[in-house]
Amino acid sequence: MDLDVAVVGAGFAGLYLVHRLREQGFSVKAFDAADDVGGTWYWNRYPGARCDIPTTDYTYSFDPELEKVWTWSEKYATQPEILDYLRLVADRYDLRRDIVFSTTIESAVWDDAAARWRLVTDKGDEVVCRHYVMASGCLSLPKTPDIPGANDFAGEVYFTGKWPHEPVDFTGKRVAVIGTGSSAIQSIPLIAEQADELVVFQRTPNFSIPAHNGPPPADRLAEIAADRDAYREAAKWSRGGVPREVTTIMGTTASPELRRERFEAAWEAGELFAILGIFADQGFNPETNEIVSEMLREKIREVVKDPETADSLCPTDYPFGTKRPCLDTNYFQTFNLPHVRLVDLRKNPIVTIKSDGIDTAQESFGFDAIVFATGFDAMTGPLVAVDITGRNGVTLKEKWADGPSTYLGLTTVGFPNFFAVTGPGSPSVLSNMTVSIEQHVDWIADCLTDMRNQGFDTIEPTPVAESGWNQHVADCAAITLYEKANSWYMGANVPGKPRVFYPYIGGVDSYRAACDEVRSRGYFGFRLSGPVGEQVNDGVVRRLQPDVQLVIETMEAMGLPPLESLPVDQARMFMVMARAERPPGPQVGEVLDGTLPGADGPLDYRLYRPATPGPHPVVVYFHGGGWVLGDLDSDDPLCRDLCAQAEAVVVSVNYRHAPEHRFPAAADDAFAAVQWVGANMVSVGGVPGQLVVAGWSAGGNIAAIACQRARDLGGPDICGQLLITPVTDSDMTRPSYVENGDGYVLTKGLMDWFWNHYADPADRTQPSAAPLRGELRDLPPAVIVTGEFDPLRDEGAAYADALAAAGVDVTHIRARGHTHTSLTMVDVVLSGAPVRAEIFGHLRALFPASVPA
Ligand SMILES: Cc1cc2nc3c(=O)[nH]c(=O)nc-3n(C[C@H](O)[C@H](O)[C@H](O)COP(=O)(O)OP(=O)(O)OC[C@H]3O[C@@H](n4cnc5c(N)ncnc54)[C@H](O)[C@@H]3O)c2cc1C
Repeated sequence: MDLDVAVVGAGFAGLYLVHRLREQGFSVKAFDAADDVGGTWYWNRYPGARCDIPTTDYTYSFDPELEKVWTWSEKYATQPEILDYLRLVADRYDLRRDIVFSTTIESAVWDDAAARWRLVTDKGDEVVCRHYVMASGCLSLPKTPDIPGANDFAGEVYFTGKWPHEPVDFTGKRVAVIGTGSSAIQSIPLIAEQADELVVFQRTPNFSIPAHNGPPPADRLAEIAADRDAYREAAKWSRGGVPREVTTIMGTTASPELRRERFEAAWEAGELFAILGIFADQGFNPETNEIVSEMLREKIREVVKDPETADSLCPTDYPFGTKRPCLDTNYFQTFNLPHVRLVDLRKNPIVTIKSDGIDTAQESFGFDAIVFATGFDAMTGPLVAVDITGRNGVTLKEKWADGPSTYLGLTTVGFPNFFAVTGPGSPSVLSNMTVSIEQHVDWIADCLTDMRNQGFDTIEPTPVAESGWNQHVADCAAITLYEKANSWYMGANVPGKPRVFYPYIGGVDSYRAACDEVRSRGYFGFRLSGPVGEQVNDGVVRRLQPDVQLVIETMEAMGLPPLESLPVDQARMFMVMARAERPPGPQVGEVLDGTLPGADGPLDYRLYRPATPGPHPVVVYFHGGGWVLGDLDSDDPLCRDLCAQAEAVVVSVNYRHAPEHRFPAAADDAFAAVQWVGANMVSVGGVPGQLVVAGWSAGGNIAAIACQRARDLGGPDICGQLLITPVTDSDMTRPSYVENGDGYVLTKGLMDWFWNHYADPADRTQPSAAPLRGELRDLPPAVIVTGEFDPLRDEGAAYADALAAAGVDVTHIRARGHTHTSLTMVDVVLSGAPVRAEIFGHLRALFPASVPA
């Protein structure tokens, strides 16, 4: 066989691939180990097997006519019904003639000279193809049970993921179910209906909510009937692949009544995305997550009569949602039946399986049948189960030994013309997979068609694009709670499997946008070659931190006028309004407002004292706002964070602003404030000699200048300076102004507006406006923070370099994926937290060693 495309798998993905690629005129064959179509729905025939995304959504959408000839009978259809549907699809589009059944692909080798893949089947046949697509499923390789004696049992043995085709009858039998994941939770109530005795062995309890199954919800059907195309389009651009209104309500700030109301509504809806989306912050904020988790535990305790069993069934050691939650029908109720028992393996572990039963540490059980519901080697398992050898003889298994590395979850460097449908690094198992499968198949089909039209015959991602995507996938996961669970999303269920977060949590919508962008930018991040030559548009498609990107997109969607187009008083009013809803920042020991003498009259200050007993080191802090905007409230959350994390007294000073008070009023006030604090260290609760001067943006500018003046004008003694994305110069021609001058909140236009209000052009090159142009010897050690997407990035870096060249001790922290403002958005831009922790760690190191650690 010499094909354009060979596809492994004949489930949802393989079937649609054969259809789409054939439509595009490619020769294609799919291979499946099964003897019929269906994939997941062919293999998983255990009692109670159903989908857990409503079937109205868990369905193909590529052909409106298909939707007219098929109606789902239930909200969550059973395995036989889904299998019937996939058989209908195979017949309707005449797909079987291009599917080779009962055939396993065992190996695949890239032949670089011929630019072809050579696949070998379990029958020893060779299949040659230009493109090789693994549509082999994410949950298609059942995990072998890692329990001593698992092969010794002489009774009936079943695996939920490879259930027999013949009916299984447990009537009159003593049955063990090992595992309490989704398949177990679906099958246990039905097995209990037949078995004489049922013992469930549980390693980790799972959260589960009632499915409230029945006919498909009338409102959903009506919505689809009203405008099918709009509904399906909304699914494609939703976060999870099911259209849903996304809430902005935070669990921490919602009233107890509202929390309960929203929880009960989600409970009644009986849908995973409803219960996962009760509050905007439940996937990020441990406090909110615990609110939801506890309400779920209450429900378990309400149902399960035996308190000890209830206790064992309540998950307590991972946040809700970080392991796949389940939908059930009478799962918890089953444990009230007299012939059903739960064995909590944490208290009573299995010692061995033996020929007639199972021995635990405390008890010996006799069984006629054991059901292993022990899950899958998810996502990468089926891919590396095939011996796939890419360019230069490296196998996929070797390449992924420390975890998968992909570009878009679809492709991987070293494996030209190789695609994985719903591979690691794509939304896959976190989404409604039919939507994700269709998107991947469409992207692959479009890509192969584009290549053919443009005269390319090989495609491979670049190392830069791939490592950038891996970083983005990791960045997205890092701001969530997912990494706190020992889940199969993390590879934790398979001994020896690398512990990384396998899927992409950034959302179906963001992911689709990235894939579309890659295509529209001429296969950005890919190397294409063929008779027409070679094309490489190298680069990283997503470089901003995901939450920074979200903030920017949200602001863009609001269509706000640029600040620089407003009169100053309106711009100030706008800034006050913008912070009305923001989180307050962490608790500190005490907050006091006062006044101190400025250069030309009193200045307001706000003092933050840590909760620990003093005295403490002291930080004098100057807020940002381009010398025009900002006040004591504007940087309040940041000051709280600084105080709490650095365990320092923070004195935030409200200096005079332009245009009412132009240059050098702000710089003069800053120096006066530093002098006053230096002279009053003990009375503010500080340790003499432990004074740092800090500021963000324009505040960083006047902080730097205050340090220069203190050196020249006889003190006070300053032990360090912390400059967060500071203005250090007035030259706007540096590359960061060109690259980031528009689109990243602080724009070149706004910087112009600030400078114009603050200083005459002739003054802007004076050291008191542009500290980079001052004398830099003998200044206090500095921590300088620059943001990758900040117009001021390069002048901050220049200041760090110039200080170091002048012999000053400098730590330069480059905040990857951050903008000018994002690091200061405490509890909003969560990716800023580890950067601030690093900053404050270095800040503490500026204080002399006598400060208690
Ligand atoms: C019990 C269960 C319930 C699920 N419910 C949902 C749900 O409600 N919503 C949802 O979005 N997702 C659900 N999923 C995930 C489900 O796997 C996907 O929705 C979808 O069916 C995957 O389709 P696929 O074609 O990508 O892969 P699969 O359906 O897994 O098909 C892959 C096929 O590839 C074949 N194969 C693999 N390797 C080879 C090889 N080397 N040679 C030959 N053949 C090979 C396998 O035999 C298999 O038939 C569920 C999964 C399970 C196990």
